[in-house]
Amino acid sequence: MKKYIAVSVITSLVLATSVVWADETLPLKAVNRANEVIDAALEAYGGAERIAKLNSVARESHFTTWATNQSRSPGPPWDENEQTSFSAIDFENKTFVTKNSGSGGGFDFDGSQIIKGDEGWQVDFRAGTVTAIAEPDFDTTAGPFIRVTAPLLVKQLQNRRQTSHWLGEVEFEGRPHDVITLVMEVGPALSLYFDQQTHLLSRSERVLPPFGQVDYRFTDYETVDGIPFSKTFKLFVNDEPNIDIDIKTTQVNQPIGQYALVPQNLEQVEAAPPAPTEVEVQEVNEGVFLVGSGNTYAMFVEMNDHVIAVGGTAGIPERITALREVVKDKPITYAVMTHHHNDHVLGVPAYQDEGAVILTVKANEAVMRAAATDADSLKLQFVEDRYVFDDGSRKLEIIDIGPTPHAEHMLVAWLPEEGILFEADHFPNPTNGRMVPAQPVTKRLAEAIDQQDLDVKIIIGAHSPRVANIDDLHRALALNIVKVTQVSP
Ligand SMILES: [Zn+2]
Repeated sequence: MKKYIAVSVITSLVLATSVVWADETLPLKAVNRANEVIDAALEAYGGAERIAKLNSVARESHFTTWATNQSRSPGPPWDENEQTSFSAIDFENKTFVTKNSGSGGGFDFDGSQIIKGDEGWQVDFRAGTVTAIAEPDFDTTAGPFIRVTAPLLVKQLQNRRQTSHWLGEVEFEGRPHDVITLVMEVGPALSLYFDQQTHLLSRSERVLPPFGQVDYRFTDYETVDGIPFSKTFKLFVNDEPNIDIDIKTTQVNQPIGQYALVPQNLEQVEAAPPAPTEVEVQEVNEGVFLVGSGNTYAMFVEMNDHVIAVGGTAGIPERITALREVVKDKPITYAVMTHHHNDHVLGVPAYQDEGAVILTVKANEAVMRAAATDADSLKLQFVEDRYVFDDGSRKLEIIDIGPTPHAEHMLVAWLPEEGILFEADHFPNPTNGRMVPAQPVTKRLAEAIDQQDLDVKIIIGAHSPRVANIDDLHRALALNIVKVTQVSP
């Protein structure tokens, strides 16, 4: 079937309408069908004009989240957490506001992000502080809200239809759907499932390394100002439930300026300087090294004729390479995994390659083996309450301070002669040393230090390059949680 081929002079005209006529090659079919699906979706969502005029949306919602591989226990059922959320977007004014409060993993949070054009602020209501954002980015910050709000995805399709391809037809929940792609300003492409009868969005999918397949479900549509909005939303990661959202209220095309006011009654603070981007080796005490970059660090302790590693966060191979600049040839014989969370066992294969024995608790055996390159040959040593390394030159104690609000078992490393404690996920330690009111996990850490009667002088951790002292912990414990009256929708 030969069709008229658009030539250069009229290309722009042809592209402005929906369909390009030429030999229907596979790519052309993908573009044409996508345009048909987009046109039908625009109709279903109240019409092209209404979507073009959809400028602001404000929604209050309730989130249920599941802490997959980040729960107190090493396996399912995963811990369920609740949070309340409010988001508002205004495209014309490039304004986006999001507020979230809740708790999870032994951390409480109550914060907000405000983007107004090229200005932005991070508000921590719990600590009572406002921090200017150095490089505010409307598209990146608003992306998560757009991705869970069906009419805003349709608006994106309207504006970016040239990025869209039809992928095919699939049955989803017993109904035929067209699947088309959408490339947003930032992030990997989305694949959107439109119901062939209702032309409403049922599902969206994208592949997001390192998490894997992220799957969004839009259900329970209700019409607000002539536009169908889904009232409930579910997000799955690799087929496991990750977030459920219940929408409480939706406002369309109302001014959102009142929500984007930067609180004046809070303390204005400077953003913490960024952590090093290149791996750095800090000798905290003779033969005690904190090695890392960004937000992941490990401690290496030099013994007489070997090294003991503590911590298994991202980038262990590079951290071992950096350590080899200062400790040339002593083998790493043991590697302590602080806990079972997926971001803290990434180093297991690297330590296995070094021939090290992995130190963990019996309850976390399966997680450690699953993280290894070769599960069967992984050498494990289990800690019961406390495991002591003492080769005459130095003493290093590994103590299980669990259960904590973060994990049932939590190993910390303690150097009694040096007074150095290495911990993970219990003591937020920003690069500028500005403490926040102690989190439940921090209180538990302080309690464990007391119970174990540890004379701690220095605290270092898995997520900070900063060497803290015991006064920092005491300051965090002494800070009060700020109660702030907020403008609510
Ligand atoms: Zn953790």
